[in-house]
Amino acid sequence: MLLKQIHNLRNTLSFRLTLWYAFIFTLTSLLALSIFYYHISQITMENTDDELLEEYREFAAIMVHEGTEELMSEFNTEIIEEAEESLYFRLLSPDGKILKSSDMTDFKGVTISKGALGALKNNEEYVIETLTVPGLEFDIQAIYGVITPSIIFNLGISLEDNYEYLSIFKNLIILLLIPLFFIAAFIGWFLARHALKGVEEVTQTAIEISKGSIDKRVEVKRRSHEIDTLANTFNSMLDRIQSLIKGMREMNDNVAHDLRSPLTRIRGIAEMTLVGNGSMQDYSEMAANTIEECDKLIEIINTMMDITETEAGVSPFKSEKLDVIKLILSACELFDPIAKEKDVQLLTVLPDNLVILGDKAKMQRLITNLLENAIKYNKHGGTVTISVKKDNQLVNIQVEDTGLGIAEEELPHIFERFYRCDRSRSRAGIGLGLSLAKAIVKAFNGDIKVKSALDQGSSFQVILPA
Ligand code: ADP
Repeated sequence: MLLKQIHNLRNTLSFRLTLWYAFIFTLTSLLALSIFYYHISQITMENTDDELLEEYREFAAIMVHEGTEELMSEFNTEIIEEAEESLYFRLLSPDGKILKSSDMTDFKGVTISKGALGALKNNEEYVIETLTVPGLEFDIQAIYGVITPSIIFNLGISLEDNYEYLSIFKNLIILLLIPLFFIAAFIGWFLARHALKGVEEVTQTAIEISKGSIDKRVEVKRRSHEIDTLANTFNSMLDRIQSLIKGMREMNDNVAHDLRSPLTRIRGIAEMTLVGNGSMQDYSEMAANTIEECDKLIEIINTMMDITETEAGVSPFKSEKLDVIKLILSACELFDPIAKEKDVQLLTVLPDNLVILGDKAKMQRLITNLLENAIKYNKHGGTVTISVKKDNQLVNIQVEDTGLGIAEEELPHIFERFYRCDRSRSRAGIGLGLSLAKAIVKAFNGDIKVKSALDQGSSFQVILPA
């Protein structure tokens, strides 16, 4: 159980971010501390060199002001005073002979640097060297400096103190890195938790939704742009899913309701055929009625599928050049006989040409549905006017009629599936034409509006991007 929990924790993004943060933070700190350590060690060495130089200058000054004897006595005092310390003094001849020397027991193996003497011969005032002497634990920093042409001052200091001082620093740095890692991990964990809180809320909402509460939404709290975008995208995805589910439920209800009537009628006809003893003509009529009802059923099912596919974007939406004017004129030609039969006059107010990009078949369907309604719900002697305008990159198609009109309270419902206004129920129709028209207009990224007055007529306006 515990092992599983640890395994789960190891796989969390928070844990990984924390680890990365702590790792990078510690590494950066190590780098900064190493640079600091390097500078400290440089400064320590420079201090030692300064010390050596100061001693050399002191001895040189004694020589200049007080002569060789005072130099020698100062040398003896210095040796006695400093005898405890880890250093040695020597006075040398230019060819490297030892004239005087402090106790060299602790500095066995320290030779005289030929290189340094050579450099002094070449008029160098002094030379400072770091010596690594076999058998000695610590390196030695030594100075060779000219006091008089016949006396060379040589002072060496063991770098033990320097190394000890620096090793304290080194240990301190290592010791510091451990708490630094944990502090960084703590800060990293806090930051990761804070940053991922929004993601967790989205996940929590998703879990609640998976249990059935599709109404839930993630709160947009202006945390950070990324999380707010995620929350907004998630919410709009949920809105879309919810509206699709609502649409599907409505469709199920409508299908159940609207398919029942033709099916009941078909069943009635079949029953009458079975029990009745009608004439051949009666049977032909019944068969014709059955075919009519079946056609209606097929039309309902096909239109329903068209609407659902267009709304869901499943059916391919072609992007082809389509001549709107040509399309409207051929629709008018097609409906002309029906209009004439109803004594309805078809009028057009069209520009010479207008070409837009879109799906031709869907556009045909849209125009046909609006034109068919305008004729179907018109009065004898009425008119239908189709006009097209283009302004500001928008194409405006208007289908106006002088027919029955639509009551104000019914206007908000006419685009719903299977909705039919009270006054038009006597006329043929299934109540799906405008739903399909709306779905098509949406697929074109356009809009459809309607204005109507009872007994005066209706005006459907389709606005499409050009
Ligand atoms: P259908 O025409 O098959 O009944 P539609 O979806 O095309 O279905 O139209 C829905 C309803 O809107 C129609 O039943 C009718 O009541 C009303 N309607 C549509 N167009 C018009 C119109 N031009 N004039 C009056 N009523 C209309």
